[in-house]
Parts: sequence; structure tokens; C-alpha cells
Amino acid sequence: MSLVGARERRVRTGGIELCVAELGDERQPTVVLVHGYPDSKEVWSEVAVRLADRFHVVLYDVRGHGRSTAPRPLRGGFTLEKLTDDFLAVIDAVSPGEPVHLVGHDWGSVQSWEFATVARTEGRIASFTSMSGPSLDHFGHWIKTRVRRPTPRRIGQLLGQGAKSWYVYMLHTPVLPELAWRGPLGKRWPGILQRLEKVPADGYPTASLPSDAAHGAWLYRDNVRSRLGRPREDAYAHAPVQLITPLGDAFLSERLYDELEKWAPNAVRRTLPAKHWIPRTRPDQLAAWIAEFVTANEGRENGVPANGPVATGRYAERFGGQLVLVTGAGSGIGRATAFAFAEAGARVVAVDRDAEAAARTAEMSRLIGAPDAWAETADVSDEQAMEKLAGRVAAEYGVVDVLVNNAGIGLSGSFLDTTAEDWRKVLDVNLWGVIHGCRLFGKQMAERGQGGHIVNIASAAAYMPSKALPAYSTSKAAVLMLSECLRAELAGRDIGVSAICPGIVNTNITSTARFAGVDAAEEQRRQKRSARLYGLRNYPPEKVAEAILRAVVRDEAVVPVTPEARGARLLHRFAPGALRAIARAEPPL
Ligand code: NAD
Repeated sequence: MSLVGARERRVRTGGIELCVAELGDERQPTVVLVHGYPDSKEVWSEVAVRLADRFHVVLYDVRGHGRSTAPRPLRGGFTLEKLTDDFLAVIDAVSPGEPVHLVGHDWGSVQSWEFATVARTEGRIASFTSMSGPSLDHFGHWIKTRVRRPTPRRIGQLLGQGAKSWYVYMLHTPVLPELAWRGPLGKRWPGILQRLEKVPADGYPTASLPSDAAHGAWLYRDNVRSRLGRPREDAYAHAPVQLITPLGDAFLSERLYDELEKWAPNAVRRTLPAKHWIPRTRPDQLAAWIAEFVTANEGRENGVPANGPVATGRYAERFGGQLVLVTGAGSGIGRATAFAFAEAGARVVAVDRDAEAAARTAEMSRLIGAPDAWAETADVSDEQAMEKLAGRVAAEYGVVDVLVNNAGIGLSGSFLDTTAEDWRKVLDVNLWGVIHGCRLFGKQMAERGQGGHIVNIASAAAYMPSKALPAYSTSKAAVLMLSECLRAELAGRDIGVSAICPGIVNTNITSTARFAGVDAAEEQRRQKRSARLYGLRNYPPEKVAEAILRAVVRDEAVVPVTPEARGARLLHRFAPGALRAIARAEPPL
């Protein structure tokens, strides 16, 4: 938890002594991390250590917090103007010659918006990453727009944010917050953070919490009412901005940033399925996004908007920079899925038993927009190969954020014609492949403790009985149930699990599918025939890929994709007898 190896110094400014900690090489770009309420600089410890190998990382206790001294009197000592004085004093000390990259969380972000929009810091900030803390000026205008031109939607937004701001009203009452923080609330706060925010119990928050929280109440009292009532008209960002929004933030509505482009025209947006305290719960993702943004903006003329690490795909906000592994990525749905994630700016690991096909997918993923893409050869049914793959991926690329267990094979033919060997093959790939993937990569995700998502490609055959596909359908029904069970188990760890049931999709699967109980010539004839039928249906794998990304964003449990898959799902639920009658019909092949 502590800032191991940090160099500390004290910076004096306006009668205050600020405690400043530095990590990493001073010749590297300087990244300044500003903490929020009720925190001290240690809230950044996990992010700081992840950045320290590439950057000069600077953290400081905001006045009145941690080991910085507090103004006397407290009232009027925490205005944004004074906080800006402190920031300038810190960067004068740690990076006098070069602009710094600013990162703020919660109140650290609120005050950083001031730093990034006032004239006297112009030229001193190379980039600004904001999370969970809006500009009070932008917020003030946001409220005014909604009060002056109310529509039902805008009133809803006002009420929504109003309800989330209950604690702000509380903090404006005199004395009581101080008493609470120095008494029972201060004692119970670590437990509350663990329970409600899922912040790991690793010694954070620090012992200074009660006085941090009592002093920090003045951040609100000195600024909120006055700024919201009279927001500045010229609060335009003079540095490139990256906005990271946790979607489960209990204190801030996403809607607050609807008009951000007016103030920061080229802002790069990122979203995270997480709660408010992301510096504690998602340090890997934050460090990756900060590093990417800092690198993209390093050495640019200040004030010139970054071309940035901007991917254009529809889901770029959510998947940019994430590590996504897709099995069976050499063809069909797997390849289209790898491309869709690449388009959203994800780093892609394309796995297939066909090495050449995987390499082509990785190469094209890079061309499409993946900042990095790698090919890995593995047979998903081979337990040892999968164990080696999981080890290699973790060591070389990191813990995957999204796993797509897609590799699968087709097998057609009646039950009585299906041999034990046929069964083994289809279950080994379609079921065991998914089990290995979930077991090995799911374990890494769970151990990292920073969330993630697993997508398993089942099939509409999972809930549609038929005479034609008994083995294939059984394998897919098992995948569906495995996904549902795993979803229940991993929910508490912020790992979502989705089962995708595509329907009839025009891919190569028809020409490689086995047909049990017929000779080679007949098998070939049937493969051709089914390829023709699938071609006529002509549902593109890209649409399945789109459904997969959407399922992750929305954390959907079971997703039937094509209209026939959706129709069959309805019959399965509401008229299973009809589905059984259809199952008795002679297969078309
Ligand atoms: P496809 O044949 O076009 O692609 C499958 C890919 O998986 C190929 O690149 C293949 O080399 C790879 N693969 C096969 N076995 C593997 C193994 N043991 N290890 C590693 N890689 C392996 O097929 P597709 O249609 O894209 O199918 C993808 C998934 O979607 C499968 O699970 C399939 O069952 C499922 N699905 C497909 C349809 C459809 O109509 N195409 C419908 C429902 C479900």
C-alpha cells in the first residue's frame, strides 16, 4: 500500500507545507497525480508503482490532508485559487522546465479542471486525465442549461445527479461532518469502502483519514456553492483532455459530461464498468490509459490537441487499450470479433490451431486499429497447450480483460450414426476448449481482482433439439449452462460472463463440419450443400461480432443473435412443445 521507494520532499507555499513524493526517473516525462476526498496521496499508490518504470511520477498531499499542513483558519483556506497556487509550487519544484501530465481523481480532478482551464497555468500542463470529478464551472453551466430550458429528460438528469449529491449537502452543514469523521464514520469508513466499493483491504485508507475528511469538508464549503452559482464563462481546457468515467459511480452521473466537447473539444473518452474508487480497484487499466495518453501527448506543442490514441470504433471508449483474447480467431466469427475489438482500439491476442490464419488475423487487426496484436497457435482441446498459452499470455501481454472462447467445430448426423470418437472430438473442442479457457484465463482474471469479461460462443442449437445435430447441440447446451453457472460464481468479482447463441451464420464452418454415418464423397456433397444454404441465408459474422461487443458492454447473460435464434429462444421458453415438434422434422441435409 505504501509508496515504497518514494523520495519525499516538502514544498512551501503561502504558509503551507506540502508533502510531495516522487518515484521513477526524473528525466522521464512528469506525471502528477492529485488525490480526492476523503483521501491522501496514497490512494494513487497502486497506479503510481505501475507508472514509475516509464515516468517521473509525482504525488502530493493536498493542503490539510495526509502529511501536508492545514491552513489557519480553515475557512477560506481551500479555495480553487489557493489549490492552484499549491499545484504551481509543486510543479515549480519537481519540473521547472517542462510541462507536466496531470491526473486527478474525485476532488483531485475537480481542482485539476481549474488548473487546466485558468490562464496562469497555460504552458505548464501537457495533458490532463480526469476521472470522477467534473469542473465546477462546467457543472454550473450544466445545471443552468437544465434549469433554464427544462425538458422532461433534463429534469430527470438534474434529479438524478441531485440524488447522487446527498453527501455534498451534508458536508455543507457545520461541525457535524467533522464530528462524524473524527468519530464513528472515520472508524467504519474502511469497512464501508470494502463492502460497497469493493476496495481491497490492503491498508488503505491511511491513518490520517479522520483529519483528511474533516479538513477536506472545506473543499466543498469554500467552492461548491460559489462556483456552481457563478461558473466561469471561459473555463476552456488549454491542454488535451482524457476523461475516464466509471459507469457504476454512486456519486456522479455520466450525463454530467454530455456537453464536455464545448470545453475540451478533442477529449478522449474512456468508460469502465466499475465504481467510484478506480485508483484502488482498477490500477492496471488506469495505468495503461494514463501511459498511453501521456505518450501520445509527450513532446507536442502545448495547446495543440492530441491526435491521440484515438480508435474510431463504436465501442472505443470502452475497449481502447484493453487486452482481448479470441480463440478460433483465424476464421469466421472469431476473426470478425478480433477485428471488431481491434477497431475499438483493443490489444488483440488471436489464437487458432491454424498458425497462418491466426497470424493473418493479428496482422490485419493491427492495420484496422489495434495498438498491438499478436498471434498464438494452440489447440483449445489440448489441456497442456492451453496451460502453456495462459502462462505465455500472462507473462508477455498481461491478464486478459476480455476472453472470447469461440473456437468450435461442427458435427452433423443422427445419434445412432455418431461414433464415440465423433463425440469425443466435438466435446473436446466445443466443450473442453471452453472449460480450459474459462478455467485458466478466468482464474487469472479473478486473481488479479480488477474485473473482466468472459464470452462463450454457444449456439441456438443449445436450446433447439434436432435429429440432425445431437452431439453438436449437446456440446453447445453444456457451454450455455457452464456460462450461466460461471456468471453466478464470478458476479461477486466483477467478472461478467455472456453466452452467445448466433443462429445460422455464413462462415467456413460448413465446409469443415463432419457428417457422421456417411462416406467421404457423401460428406463432401453435404458440406457443399450446407455451405450453399448458409450462403443463401447470408448472415455475416460481423453482425455476431457486433453482438459480442454489445454483450460485454451491457453485461448480457444470454444473447441469441439472428432472428431465427431469437425466435427459437422464445419458442423454447414459451412453447417448447412446438420446438419439439419441429425437431422431429427430417433435416434438410
Ligand atoms: P469457422 O470454421 O469459420 O472458424 C472456426 C475457427 O476455429 C477456425 O479458424 C478454426 O481453425 C478454429 N478452430 C477449430 N478448432 C480449433 C481448436 N481445437 N483449437 C483452436 N482453434 C480451432 O467457424 P465459425 O462459424 O466462425 O464458428 C465459430 C464458433 O461459432 C464456433 O464455436 C461455432 O460452433 C459457433 N457457431 C457458429 C455458427 C455458424 O452458423 N457459423 C452458429 C452458431 C455457433
